[in-house]
Amino acid sequence: MHPLDKFKYCPVCGADNFTENDDKSKKCHKCGFRYYLNAVSAVAGFIVDDNNRLLLCRRAKEPLKGTWDLPGGFVDIGETAEDAIRREVKEELNLHTDSIRYLFSIPNEYLYSGFNVRTLDMFFMIKISDLSILTAKDDVAQAMFIPFDQININSIGLKSIKIAVEKFLASRV
Ligand SMILES: [Zn+2]
Repeated sequence: MHPLDKFKYCPVCGADNFTENDDKSKKCHKCGFRYYLNAVSAVAGFIVDDNNRLLLCRRAKEPLKGTWDLPGGFVDIGETAEDAIRREVKEELNLHTDSIRYLFSIPNEYLYSGFNVRTLDMFFMIKISDLSILTAKDDVAQAMFIPFDQININSIGLKSIKIAVEKFLASRV
């Protein structure tokens, strides 16, 4: 399906003669505007404790409610990816981030209200000195440190997160 399938009207002039231009854009035949849909920026982070356990979060909301996930979310407009992961860690876990290190990125698809959001998920290693104040909040129903060798990859819902955790665990053995 075309990524702009749900966009029926030109966002500039409102004309309904708004058709596929190529596989990532649509063109308005009234005003000539071409709309390119780019990936939405998202962030996620790895938090590890002193006992070689990885923090996983149970999703409190759809999509994929109840499956395991990493802390993270969408980058706001005007925000850096670094600020976004720090904000999400505070919002979801009540934790203060001491330092972060960028690792890698993975494209993903995120079904939201029937709309398939194409994302680019950026992954960070997150250092936190005080884990004692951890509280699951916001989009997180439960947060748990799980030993690396006991993580069930199939309990992770989002595809990019699953791939990222596999990559992370492979680098840790
Ligand atoms: Zn137009």
